[in-house]
Amino acid sequence: MQEFQYLMPTKILFGQGVIKKNASLFKEYGKKALIVTGKHSAKKNGSLDDILEVLKRNGIAYSIFDEIEENPSLETVEKGADFGKKEKIDFIIAIGGGSPLDAAKAINLLIANEDSSKEDLYILKPMKTLPGIAVPTTAGTGSETTPYAILTNHQKKTKINIVHKVFFDLALLDPEYMMAMPEAITINTALDALSHLVEGYLTVKANLFSDIWAEKGLNLFSECMDALKKKNFTYLLREKLLLVSTIAGMVIAQTGTSLPHGMGYALTYFHNIAHGRANALLMKAFLEIHPHRERVDRILSCLGLNNLEELGDFLDSLLGEKEKVTKDEIIAYAQDMTFNDLKLKNHPAKVSLEDIYQIYEKSLNLQ
Ligand code: NAP
Ligand code: FE
Repeated sequence: MQEFQYLMPTKILFGQGVIKKNASLFKEYGKKALIVTGKHSAKKNGSLDDILEVLKRNGIAYSIFDEIEENPSLETVEKGADFGKKEKIDFIIAIGGGSPLDAAKAINLLIANEDSSKEDLYILKPMKTLPGIAVPTTAGTGSETTPYAILTNHQKKTKINIVHKVFFDLALLDPEYMMAMPEAITINTALDALSHLVEGYLTVKANLFSDIWAEKGLNLFSECMDALKKKNFTYLLREKLLLVSTIAGMVIAQTGTSLPHGMGYALTYFHNIAHGRANALLMKAFLEIHPHRERVDRILSCLGLNNLEELGDFLDSLLGEKEKVTKDEIIAYAQDMTFNDLKLKNHPAKVSLEDIYQIYEKSLNLQ
């Protein structure tokens, strides 16, 4: 059997009202917190209020940095870290979707290592971290259980994962915060979780432990497919999608992702296509060329589907009209992808420029 490692150090607490029910836990982490969040949603969905209430109850001071944008940039991370350093904080609480959670991991590194700069996020060397707590408010990225932080680099015109691995110490999962999430965000994030399960299951690093989680995650996702199609977003569905997302995070924490994620970053950067949607657009064409046909079939069977066409129909029903791109644009994105060694080496076969081009061409609306 193949050699592998397994590390998932994040303590997970799941359930309605989980923050208030576990208020006393916060004392363990320090006397002052930096809350890292997005501009609006945490103030509206109850998550920020719940955190502030338990901090006050425990006499823990806090400062709030609420400027994280979607697909957070290195510049915003630097700004958050400069703010956090001045505030002399002991630990970090990230609230929001993958963007604030990822940004908080990078901010954590820059605060914990006083003299570091944003360039150090991409240099492999030992770096300290402060304790971190995650409160995910989307069900998609699973960032609460992954060590990754994907940041937008405007100089390089793409999104890149930092080289340091930062796991949160605690993840507090409450589906209630997702109840008023708009349809598009619900679907795009659910599709991100699905793509983590699918890609994770098919990378060269997939192993017995990641397979167990991926198969369970796919089974749970299959229970959500009908409701997603019907846009029937009940509490029960929110609960399942949040579990799928966290499980999928645990999978990619071990396996990483591969071609759809690598190829999707260009669609997000240049066409403003939401991250999960970008992956899902590329998923069927990726599965068509994947060399491990039995594993592709296993994914379909875990999803309760008979063939790839049925998966394609499901994805099409959620994705609707596909974005327009030109031939020149996708040639350029395909060429860039041929330099993405990290994603390419996670795929079990050599892929040519033509293969990558074909995936883009089949997945989008070529003008
Ligand atoms: P996001 O960019 O964090 O948030 C998208 C939008 O959803 C924002 O407008 C946000 O508003 C809003 N929102 C968040 N929670 C909400 C709620 N409960 N109700 C209503 N609106 C809500 O989206 P995401 O898809 O979760 O994260 C995407 C990012 O994660 C990308 O940068 C992607 O590359 C990264 N990612 C990371 C990993 C990983 O392993 N670390 C894996 C996959 C993807 P506010 O801005 O006002 O909060
Ligand atoms: Fe993702």
